[in-house]
Amino acid sequence: MLLPYDALREQGELWDLYTRREEYVPQQLDQYGCFPYASGTYRNILEPAVSKFLAENGLESTWPEDKEFAVCLTHDVDEVYPPLTHTLLSCLTCMKKQDLSGLREQVIWKLHGKEKSPYRNFSEIMDLEEKYGACSSFYFLATGTDITRFRYNIEDLEEDLHRITDRGWEVGLHGGYYAFNDPEEILREKQRLEKVLGRKVIGNRNHYLRFRVPDSWEHLKKAGFRYDTSLGYNEMVGFRNGMCHPFLPYNLNTGREISILEIPLTIMDDTLFESAAAYEEAWGIAKKLIDTVAAYRGIICLNWHSESFCCPFKNQREKLYEKILDYCSGKKAWMTSGEKICEWWEKMRGPQQ
Ligand SMILES: [Zn+2]
Repeated sequence: MLLPYDALREQGELWDLYTRREEYVPQQLDQYGCFPYASGTYRNILEPAVSKFLAENGLESTWPEDKEFAVCLTHDVDEVYPPLTHTLLSCLTCMKKQDLSGLREQVIWKLHGKEKSPYRNFSEIMDLEEKYGACSSFYFLATGTDITRFRYNIEDLEEDLHRITDRGWEVGLHGGYYAFNDPEEILREKQRLEKVLGRKVIGNRNHYLRFRVPDSWEHLKKAGFRYDTSLGYNEMVGFRNGMCHPFLPYNLNTGREISILEIPLTIMDDTLFESAAAYEEAWGIAKKLIDTVAAYRGIICLNWHSESFCCPFKNQREKLYEKILDYCSGKKAWMTSGEKICEWWEKMRGPQQ
């Protein structure tokens, strides 16, 4: 899948969109230091303008087994032990539905130790995906520092991590809140996760989608990552740099490509459900994006947090996730992890020049 760069470079506006030139000297950042959608000039975010141009100019996109397009399934693992606010909300939901066993589950795990936490639901998520011939990536935090509160110690999850990789699913890094602009910190976190996992970690997504173009890509590459999936907005679904294909980012400061694959994030569950008034509207937006990506034989990358498969989010979010799996499998999509996408892309590209 070679991108016709030369043709793209001659397209001023599209080249700027593709490289995210306006993010090099951001005028305004949000409270988390992220470049917000509101600051961007690309308003047609639900259309992948750059991929459209590339497709019209010779981009050949192929996927294994003659699949029509790809779906990169990912899960940020922000929580492993439900914070009190989640537990209270869940209990409330259970009471409303008179769901006594659900109510018991919310409290009882605390009596039986951390292993019984309802948020350690990775096997259930894998079972669901397996039903549709899919697999996915789980991105875990491996840091002790966070902006809100203590999350979890990755060392306590060793068995969970092995259960994930033993089934052929991927464990990647959820780069910590303070890692996106700190090359030493991102390397420390990667090594910490690798120590627990007992193997190399190749994929990353940053917590809160904190990202600095182009430096974060350079730091990730230097730390030894082969791909990243952070390029999406917190407050808007769609195509942040007009791409619905994986690509090697281009650094305007050095005038060179950065040899790390970016699989741009298209839909995050929080974003979708916060911008849609109701379930049907959320599905409508997701379906439109899937159909668009399928038309360009591209890739759609989803981030469904692991906690979205638990009460109090389960009813809406898990249901929609399954609907997406069902719909995409009917459209002959390759539904897989970031790792498998990256391996496929590297194989198609051939040895690095
Ligand atoms: Zn996160």
